[in-house]
Amino acid sequence: MRERTQARVNVAAIARNCARLSSELRGGAALCAVVKADGYGQGAVQSARGALAGGATWLAVAGAGEVRELRDAGLRDVRILVMGALTMPELEQALADDGDVVVWSEQYLQAVAAAGGGDVHVKLDSGMGRLGTRDPVEASRVAAAARNTPGVRLAGLMTHFATADELSDDGFFACQLAAFTEWARELKAEQPDLIVHAANSAAMLRDADAQFDMVRCGIAIYGMDPFGRDPAARGLEPALELSSYVADVKHCKEGESSGYGRRFIAEHDTYIGVLPIGYGDGWRRGLSNNADVLVAGHRYPLVGTVSMDNITVDLGLDRDAEALRGERAILIGFQGSERITAEEVARRLDTINYEITCGLTSRVPRTYHRDGVALDAYAAPMPARTGDESAT
Ligand SMILES: *Cc1c(COP(=O)(O)O)cnc(C)c1O
Repeated sequence: MRERTQARVNVAAIARNCARLSSELRGGAALCAVVKADGYGQGAVQSARGALAGGATWLAVAGAGEVRELRDAGLRDVRILVMGALTMPELEQALADDGDVVVWSEQYLQAVAAAGGGDVHVKLDSGMGRLGTRDPVEASRVAAAARNTPGVRLAGLMTHFATADELSDDGFFACQLAAFTEWARELKAEQPDLIVHAANSAAMLRDADAQFDMVRCGIAIYGMDPFGRDPAARGLEPALELSSYVADVKHCKEGESSGYGRRFIAEHDTYIGVLPIGYGDGWRRGLSNNADVLVAGHRYPLVGTVSMDNITVDLGLDRDAEALRGERAILIGFQGSERITAEEVARRLDTINYEITCGLTSRVPRTYHRDGVALDAYAAPMPARTGDESAT
């Protein structure tokens, strides 16, 4: 049976992307695979398994529920960093699920202790202006307090860059890197087993000095480019394919229209293909008259308004359009020599690739495969290098 729309994720591509990123790590830095937001919309559990098979040794998420999902799926022994702010019940859950949590104040540290204690990473806000302690002296006080709080173990030091993906940032990245390096140096000298980490995908690809003991890569492990460029240029392989199919083909005479608001009116006779995907699936309305779709190896323009459940494409008169009824349609992915990347879709929407895949809704079934061999969503662990998954 053909699904109306489908997101197919190649877990082997995630593994290869991780192997490729690992090959750029120097001095034994670890790769932490960021699988928050359901693995950037591509499935947290299978993405995590692919990443571990490719050499990642840590996972990271934003919230407590995300740790629980990974633990429940059998990812029991791998360390998981919970990067976000947590309420008291969330802290209790994240710590019970053996997550490492991030702290930035003595008060929050006390909450961690009260919630059962565990491993903490102190975060310096070196310029992101979000979570983290602004003042390095204060951040060092939090680190010292973590060492002295019973039940709490100071496990890491971290920061996050605001402009790693903007190569012309007037030196802001370099300033953040310098501030963090300076702050972490002394604490690391006092406690050499501390895991110092700062880099996201863009930072690790941009500057090896940002790698420290671990890098936290999200976007790149899914084969998307953190700079919004062609991922292939960096040897990254998109894991996601978004597809639908041509549910119907109809002749459209000059002057006839398709879709809400008649935003497409045929200038000459043509054929219109109707695809059952819309903004209810995450194929955003801003793509009205503003996207291409691949059918039978050719690019066709999306015409008219994207509605909740359908889009229309102009199949033209050059080929036998009627014969395209029932054909698979690729919205993100490859077909023949043509390809449409998440970066292309993002550019059209004036946003970033992250938002494109995270925005796919739960109506789109995710299916998993390893270079074409089907996998169940939760079954069949990858042959993980780290041996972290006992069968459950
Ligand atoms: C999401 C996130 C990352 C991963 O960023 P990418 O750009 O996807 O590599 C790393 N660190 C923190 C703190 C994050 O929130």
